[in-house]
This record gives sequence, C-alpha cells and structure tokens, in this order.
Amino acid sequence: MIVAGNWKMFAGPDPRMLAERLAGVDGVDAIVCPPYTELAACVEAGLTTYAQNVHWEPEGAYTGEISAPMLLALGVRGALVGHSERRQYFGETDAAVARRARAALAAGLGVIACVGETQEERDSGDMETVLRVQLAVIREECGIDDGLVLAYEPVWAIGTGQVATPELAQEAHAFIKSLLDRPVLYGGSVKPGNAAELLAQPDVDGALVGGASLEIDSFLSICEAAARSRS
Ligand code: PEP
Repeated sequence: MIVAGNWKMFAGPDPRMLAERLAGVDGVDAIVCPPYTELAACVEAGLTTYAQNVHWEPEGAYTGEISAPMLLALGVRGALVGHSERRQYFGETDAAVARRARAALAAGLGVIACVGETQEERDSGDMETVLRVQLAVIREECGIDDGLVLAYEPVWAIGTGQVATPELAQEAHAFIKSLLDRPVLYGGSVKPGNAAELLAQPDVDGALVGGASLEIDSFLSICEAAARSRS
C-alpha cells in the first residue's frame, strides 16, 4: 500500500511534525510530493520525498525544469509525472510524460505516472481509448519497470469532491493493469471518509491524495485506512 500526498503549489504541513506522526503508522509507504522549495526540508525530516515533475535531460537550457540527477543529489527518491494539471495547464503531452518517466527511472528515481480521462472523454465513451493511448506510450518508453507506479486519476474527480465509486475505481484499475501490470494508486478527491472503501478494492494499491494531504490529521487518517485495508 502506497499513499502519496501531492501538495501541489501549497507549502503543506510542517515536515517534521508530519514525519513524527507517520512514524506511528505501519504497513503503508507514505510519500510526500511537496513544491520544489520544500523538497530539502522534507528529505531532512526523513520523509520519502518525490518531486512533482522531472525533466528528461540531466541538465540544459530548460528554464523552470529540474532534472533527475539534481533531485537525487537532494535525497529525493522519485517524481510524479503526467499529473492532469500538468497536462491541462502546461501542455504536457503523452510523449513528454513518457520521456520524463523513462529518464527518471533510468537515473534511479521512482516514478508515479498519472493517467486518467476527462469528464468529456468518459461521457463520449472514450475512457478506455484514452487510457490505452496514455499507457501504451508509457509502456513503450519504460517497459514494466520495477520503479514504476501508476496513478489512475480521473480528471473529473481531481479537486472536485466528486470521487469515483469504489466499483468504478476497481474496474478502471483492473483495466489499467491488463495493459501495464504495475501497482495502481487511485487519485481524485480521496478523503478520510471515503478512503477505506476505495482502498478495500483488490486492484487499488494505494492513493494519490491532493487536498487532503495538506492537513496532517486527514493525511494520517488516509494512511491508517490504507494500512488497515491489507491487514
Ligand atoms: C491530486 O492532486 O492528484 C488529487 C488527486 O487531488 P485531490 O485529492 O484534491 O482531488
């Protein structure tokens, strides 16, 4: 069970306090994905720390980007790639996402690669096609790499409070694993009140949590639900 907290462009909780509280939770790999300015403090606090993105080149004229060797030098253990906010607001393509993932894995970082359909794509019956394409590109670049974890994040559920039903999440996760057999986290409005039933699904291997990871109590409660779900 993996529970990753995506702090997005928020300062997030105090890393030391979070680390102290997480030390009391067994049976779950908790990961934090803070903004770049908080990476060092999270690493120093002993938190398993991932960046929110990573470039495919080790260095170069890529203003605003950060590379895998730079993250490794800080003690960062991995990176998100392909978050829907990157795809939606910053024009990340499937090809760029897969390139980022491949370079990060090759450098020795873990990767959480996000996939998922928009409401429009779901309504028009294109959900499976969208997932097929997103995953095919990742699979082609990365293969079935041990460092790769996937996150199913239906775009309509991110930050909206509109969570997928456990049945819908299970169905999508099983479909994703049939295309690329790696652990799949569910992301999209996971909260303490809905985490247990989502995490009880056999193909839900953890959660990628946005808003609810900004408060220590709610993140802890989701981590505890994850630990209970496989005990
Ligand atoms: C996310 O940012 O990946 C996310 C799932 O956000 P939220 O939990 O707020 O929907």
